[in-house]
Amino acid sequence: MKITSIKTHIVGEVRNFLFVVVETDEGITGIGEAGITWREEAMAGFVHALTPSLIGQDPNRIEHLWQVMHRCGFFPGGRIGAAAISAIDIALWDIKAKALNVPVYELLGGLVREKVVCYPHVPDGTLEEMVAGCRQKIDAGWKFVRFNLPSQGDNLEPTTSVREGVALVEAVRNELGPEAEIIIDVHTRLDPPDAIALCRQLEQCRPYFVEDPVRCENPAAIGRLRQHVATPIAMGEQYATKWEFREALENDWIDFCRLDVCNVGGLTEARKIAGWCETHYIPIAPHNPLGPVSTAACLQLDLATSNFAVQECARIPGEVLSDLFPVQVPFENGFMLPPTTPGLGVEFDEAALEKYPPVEGDCPRLTRADGSFTNW
Ligand SMILES: [Mg+2]
Repeated sequence: MKITSIKTHIVGEVRNFLFVVVETDEGITGIGEAGITWREEAMAGFVHALTPSLIGQDPNRIEHLWQVMHRCGFFPGGRIGAAAISAIDIALWDIKAKALNVPVYELLGGLVREKVVCYPHVPDGTLEEMVAGCRQKIDAGWKFVRFNLPSQGDNLEPTTSVREGVALVEAVRNELGPEAEIIIDVHTRLDPPDAIALCRQLEQCRPYFVEDPVRCENPAAIGRLRQHVATPIAMGEQYATKWEFREALENDWIDFCRLDVCNVGGLTEARKIAGWCETHYIPIAPHNPLGPVSTAACLQLDLATSNFAVQECARIPGEVLSDLFPVQVPFENGFMLPPTTPGLGVEFDEAALEKYPPVEGDCPRLTRADGSFTNW
């Protein structure tokens, strides 16, 4: 079998998604997704740059092709490059599993669990609206709720956000009782002193984890946080490749690994990082605010990884882009279930692409009260 073409598709819904289709001379196609939102053109450009190295190659040699994609340009590809490699890598696993007529998880060692617990997003709102939103999710069968650290509309003042965040988690814990699992995503909005204040005050509410308390560029910042707080910390969605996880894992700075299969280097790289996490007793909790291909790839990984905690599932399979992906992975009452179809478990209908032209725009922004830029 040989790779004959690689196509990129920017699909606009509420925001854009980048899907990559790899075609072969045997008629088997694979699909992947890349995960750096609002930078789809850049990721597509990197896919195009990699294409000459892949045409004519055997798609079954996934590890070899990963090394070619990662190292053939001499200069490391950074996060855009890793996201492009991710999409192609996921498509190669899809092809290989289809060729062997098995779901991808069979190639990753087989099922280690019968179902995958997921967490939904509770939309931003007033404290009352968000508590009610959390209650709705639990009543609908979800075991987890997840919401953002509050901002003040388009503004974010750290001291105010920490105070509002603590009040929100306390109110949600009071509403849901001791069993429900609560995740607050700080979304890298705080600097270490405010993140420390937040995490310490949240301890009594037993959050499942506090996600991305600080930005990722300087991993030692999470080490600084670690010295001061006992609240479980989750990080990793912004990391590309195993090397960016190295310090955080080797120093035991994080409690949950938020790798993103569509950013980190695909299933090949995610699998290696999960193994590395296992040596530190760190479970994975894969990042997934993306489309049906990302969701399916996460599910395949989760089903075959022992040290797995919970799967982010911002968009319920089957309820998003359902004409573009008429087959998506099974979902029931807050859990994803093992697909039995060969490959990733999704089918892509290229004919529906015309309904989803790319949307214009850029990433949302937050400002401080003085008008200066702050993290979104
Ligand atoms: Mg996040």
